[in-house]
Amino acid sequence: MKKVIIIGAGVSGLSAACYFAKEGFEVSVYEKLDVTGGRARVLEREGFSFDMGPTFYWMPDIFEKFFADFGKKVSDYYRLVRLDPGYSVYFGEHDFLKVGANLRDIFETFEKEEPGSSVYLEKFLRQAQYNYRIAIDKVVEKPGKTPFELIMPETVANVSEFMSSVSRDVRKNIKSNKLRQILEFPVIFLGAKPSRTPLFYRFMNYADMQLGTWHIMGGFGMLSKSMETLATSLGVKVHTGTHVNKINITGNKAVSIEYSKNSDGQTEVAEADLIVSSADYHFTETLLDAPYRNYSEKYWQKKVFAPSALLYYVAIDKKLTGLTHHTLFFDTDFTLHAETIYDSGSWPADPLFYGSFPSITDSSLAPEGKECAIFLIPIAPGLKESEQVREQYYNQIMDRLERLTGQEVRKHVLFWESYGVRDFVKDYHSYKGNAYGLANILTQTAFLKPKMENRRVGNLLYTGQLTVPGPGIPPSIISGKVVAKLGSGKLNKK
Ligand SMILES: Cc1cc2nc3c(=O)[nH]c(=O)nc-3n(C[C@H](O)[C@H](O)[C@H](O)COP(=O)(O)OP(=O)(O)OC[C@H]3O[C@@H](n4cnc5c(N)ncnc54)[C@H](O)[C@@H]3O)c2cc1C
Repeated sequence: MKKVIIIGAGVSGLSAACYFAKEGFEVSVYEKLDVTGGRARVLEREGFSFDMGPTFYWMPDIFEKFFADFGKKVSDYYRLVRLDPGYSVYFGEHDFLKVGANLRDIFETFEKEEPGSSVYLEKFLRQAQYNYRIAIDKVVEKPGKTPFELIMPETVANVSEFMSSVSRDVRKNIKSNKLRQILEFPVIFLGAKPSRTPLFYRFMNYADMQLGTWHIMGGFGMLSKSMETLATSLGVKVHTGTHVNKINITGNKAVSIEYSKNSDGQTEVAEADLIVSSADYHFTETLLDAPYRNYSEKYWQKKVFAPSALLYYVAIDKKLTGLTHHTLFFDTDFTLHAETIYDSGSWPADPLFYGSFPSITDSSLAPEGKECAIFLIPIAPGLKESEQVREQYYNQIMDRLERLTGQEVRKHVLFWESYGVRDFVKDYHSYKGNAYGLANILTQTAFLKPKMENRRVGNLLYTGQLTVPGPGIPPSIISGKVVAKLGSGKLNKK
C-alpha cells in the first residue's frame, strides 16, 4: 500500500485524508495542535463553548457533497438549522436591518429602505446564482495549473464580471449606504476590499441571501469532529500533538518527514510515497531546503493577504437583547477601516466589528440563562499588539455594544479571552498572522494562486486556504478533494 502523509488536520487536511483513503492509500495525518480542526477549533471554558474561527456556515451544498462522496449525509454527523434572520446589521443606536432567510422578506427590507432597489437586487441575484453555478460546477475543482482552465463559453460570455468590481456595480445602482454595505459584506469574507473584488464573486451574495446562513448544533467544532470520525472510519491515522519540523528530499523526491511529539519532544521520522502539506503555504516552504521552495520571500512580501483578526471570546452572565445570532456593527466608516487594513497597515481608530451570539440559537453552547459571545475586528496582518491594545479595543466594543443596543453588558461579563496576530502565528505558523490566507483579488485568483504542486519535487503537494480554490471552510474542503485527485493520479501512474 502506498503511503501518503498529510501535514495539518484543519478541514483541508482532513478532507484530503478522506479522499486519499477512499482511493486505497495508507494515510497518516500529523497535526501540531492537540486537537483537529485547525482554524475551525473550539475554546471550551466553564460550560461555554466558543468557535475560535469560522462561525458562518454558508454553502451547505458543498458540505453535503463532501459527505455524499463517502456515501454519507450531513445529518449522519450533525444537525443543521437555518438562521432566520441570517444576520442583522447595526448602523446606529437601535438602528438596524435584518437580512431574513426568505427572499421575499429581503426584497421588502430593500424596498422599505430604498424604493425600487429590489428590482436591482433581483437582477443582481439572478447573475449571482448563475456565477455560483459556474464557480461550483466548472471552476472550483480545477487545480489552478493554467489560465486555460478558466476559458469556457460561460466565462467568455461573462467577461465583464471579471472586469468590474462588486463595489462599482452596487454603488452605481444603489443609493442607500445601508443597502450598499449589506451587499458588499459577503465578499469581505474573501479577504479584499469590495472595490478590488471582481464582480464575478457576487456569487457570495447568492450564497448569503438564497442558500442561507446555517448553524451546526453544537458549534463548528462538530464539523472537524465529524470529518475526523469519517477519516478514521476510512482507515486514516490521525496523530495530534505532533509538530512537523522538516520535509526530507532525496534526488528531487520527498521521502519522509521529521516530527517531534509535544508530549516528550522526541524527534521521529515517518516515510511516505507522497507528502501533502495543509499547513500555511509560506511556513511549509520553510520545512524545505531553500532550493526546493516554490516561492521566494519577495514573492510573499508582494502578496495581498486577507486580514488578520482581533477576536474576543466573552462569557456573559445573562441573556442579551436586541441581537441576533450573527450581528454586524457597521455604525462607523468602513472605507476608513478598510484603508487601515489594506493600505496603511495601521490600527483602525473606529473599527467595524462583528458579534456572534450562538447561544441565542443553541443552548448547548452556554450554561442556562447565560450568553456566549464572540467578537471579531478585522485588522491588518502583521500588526504588533500589546495587552493594552487588546484591552483598549475590548473596551471600545463594550461601549459601542452597550450604546447601540441600549443595555448593560460589561458588568455582566464573567470572563473574556482574546486572540490575535501573535496567536495566529504561534498556533498555525500563519504568515504575518493572517486569518484566512490570500485576498481574492483578480491577480491572486485561480491559476494565479500559489500552486498545488511543488515545481521541483514531484511528490510534494500543497493544499488549504492559501492555494486553490481559496479561503473559507467550503473552499478548503474542496481544496482537499482537488489535491487528493492530483496526488492519487501521480501515485497511480507509478
Ligand atoms: C477568525 C476567523 C473567522 C473565519 N470565519 C469563517 C466563516 O465564518 N466561514 C467560513 O467558511 N470560513 C471562515 N474562516 C476561514 C476558515 O476557517 C479557513 O479558511 C479554513 O479553516 C482553513 O482551513 P485549512 O485547512 O486551509 O487551514 P488550517 O485550519 O489553518 O489548518 C492547517 C493545520 O496545519 C497545522 N500545522 C501548521 N504547522 C504544522 C506543523 N509544522 N506540523 C503539523 N501541523 C501543522 C495547524 O495547526 C492547522 O491545524 C474564518 C477564519 C478565521 C481565522
